[in-house]
Amino acid sequence: MNNPLLADWTTPFGLPPFADMSDDDFAPGFEASLMQARAELAEIIENPEPPTFENTIDALELMGEAMHKVLSPFYTLAGVDSNPAREALQREFSPKLAAWGSEVSMNPELFARVDALWQDREKLKLTPEQMRVLELTRRGLVRAGAQLEGFAFDRLKQVKERLAVLGTQFTQNLLADERAWYMELDPEDLEGLPGFVLATAKAAAEEKGAVGHVVTLSRSLIVPFLQFSARRDLRERAYEAWTSRGANGGETDNRSIAAEILALREERAHLLGYDDFATYKLETEMAKTPDAVRKLLMEVWEPAKAQADLDAQSLAAMMNNDGVNDALEPWDWRYYSEKRRAEEHDLDEAELKPYLQLDRMIEAAFDCATRLFGLEFKALDVPLHHPDARAWEVTRKGEHIAVFIGDYFARSGKRSGAWCSALRSQQKLRGDIRPHVINVCNFAKPAKGSPALLSYDDARTLFHEFGHALHQMLSNVTYESISGTSVARDFVELPSQLFEHWLEVPEVLQKYATHAETGEPMPADMLQRMLDAANYDQGFATVEYVASAMVDIEFHSGDAPEDPMTMQAEILEGMGMPPAIRMRHATPHFAHVFAGDGYSSAYYSYMWSEVMDADAFAAFEEAGGAFDAATARKLEDHILSVGGLREADELYTEFRGRLPGVEALLKGRGLDKVA
Ligand SMILES: [Zn+2]
Repeated sequence: MNNPLLADWTTPFGLPPFADMSDDDFAPGFEASLMQARAELAEIIENPEPPTFENTIDALELMGEAMHKVLSPFYTLAGVDSNPAREALQREFSPKLAAWGSEVSMNPELFARVDALWQDREKLKLTPEQMRVLELTRRGLVRAGAQLEGFAFDRLKQVKERLAVLGTQFTQNLLADERAWYMELDPEDLEGLPGFVLATAKAAAEEKGAVGHVVTLSRSLIVPFLQFSARRDLRERAYEAWTSRGANGGETDNRSIAAEILALREERAHLLGYDDFATYKLETEMAKTPDAVRKLLMEVWEPAKAQADLDAQSLAAMMNNDGVNDALEPWDWRYYSEKRRAEEHDLDEAELKPYLQLDRMIEAAFDCATRLFGLEFKALDVPLHHPDARAWEVTRKGEHIAVFIGDYFARSGKRSGAWCSALRSQQKLRGDIRPHVINVCNFAKPAKGSPALLSYDDARTLFHEFGHALHQMLSNVTYESISGTSVARDFVELPSQLFEHWLEVPEVLQKYATHAETGEPMPADMLQRMLDAANYDQGFATVEYVASAMVDIEFHSGDAPEDPMTMQAEILEGMGMPPAIRMRHATPHFAHVFAGDGYSSAYYSYMWSEVMDADAFAAFEEAGGAFDAATARKLEDHILSVGGLREADELYTEFRGRLPGVEALLKGRGLDKVA
């Protein structure tokens, strides 16, 4: 075997042999490793011995190691540095992986063995962790339909296949609509646009083969255009195009796809014995029931709407002073809100920028991890997947903890957004395996010789992803299936959103926000204005988010709507949606909910985690400060090191002594003082 992916990796720390692999190795590596995984599964289910924890659950946990060695570097590369060959490989692998997933999760023989262990569990002398892994394995099989028989079994398989096809179609339609629309700007159309928007609009024109400047539907261009363009007519045109994605009629229209997806999800829930899809989905989440989600959303909705209504009056007054005697419309909000932000906080992005250097912000995140958890970071010189990526060895008291990789700069071929993943997760079943964790961001790459500078939002993203990395790096369990970030969807954002709070601790930025040229620390009043402005316009942000989350949960509760657009309109009317704000994601382009299953009836998760992160950070403050050692210890012991060892509400209660209320969130968003 001369495929470097399948050979023994003799690289430092056992990192993937990036220097030796080529794109040609992935397909043969995948086929060989899939065959091996199939053989491993057959060995488990055909074992003539009666099931034991070791020959069934341990064996399942160990299954597919070779496939992991192929796919973990492959999907890292496909995400951060794609090319046509890698895209073709993704299209080739994805149906095969889906089929393999069903072979395991809808396997009646496997279920019979796992279920026999479950029925016998009291006699097996299992550790608490083994008991939990057995429970979760069985639960996963039941929820995938392994217990079904006859028509129901076949039909569920069909439904899942159809849903996978529809999800891909939904995404591709959206991309097609986003690519198709652009608006050319004549010189007289540029009024109000600052230099950085003009530069982006010019680059967009070049890409479209147009002259001058164009506006496209890319978030990084349309949002600043709506914030700064003084031309109300153009703002309206751009805004309407942006919010009509997926609803333009013709072949790329997503409305009937959304309806079919909702109907199939309902059928899937019924086949599995649930009343509706939300009940099915939320069973394994921390929220547990759709009613618990509605309760949280409504508690936040009322004060957010009150704040947004007040803000709408101020913005309308500004607009009238501008000589526009009309009602405030959705395409006016960002424009007047930006004017108000500049007036109230007196904040100039250009003045701020030199103080937030990427390297210093990385040091700041590391320093917080040192002060909280005793982690130390040493730069490594090892071959990685791209020359821009950097690696550090993470140690504690001289002991190896993890390898941390940062891949921070945007480039073509990198997926947009920011994320954290593990090239290798922590576990002890195969020996003391320590994790390899990667943070990926899309910060602007500086010209050669200049330091990389961040916006405050970028710095917050860096801290967010580093919080996920800590969840992986501090993991200390035996079984990989519950390691690190393998927790409920509405709990997984807690460590990341919590870590963002340390960026707001003034002593952190006082030390690390230093001027790129002079080395001077950021002046105290500028620091304060920056922190104040970071939480600006929360009425608007909360309203547009909660509206989307509420539509998502109602879509999946009760009978699926025949016409989702009508139902969406009814829900918003019932909530009293402010007329100058629309949903953050309307149905025809709500990719979180329709492109796949991850956030379906779970878009509320961000806010659910936010309730906890605000409350968890308050625990530090109550105990004596942001770096209180005893609270950090508790956070590591009860949350960061234990992965999915227990249900999320138990973990949180162990850390905090109780479950959180919504108060700290409202205070954090400045919504606690609204009448
Ligand atoms: Zn996150």
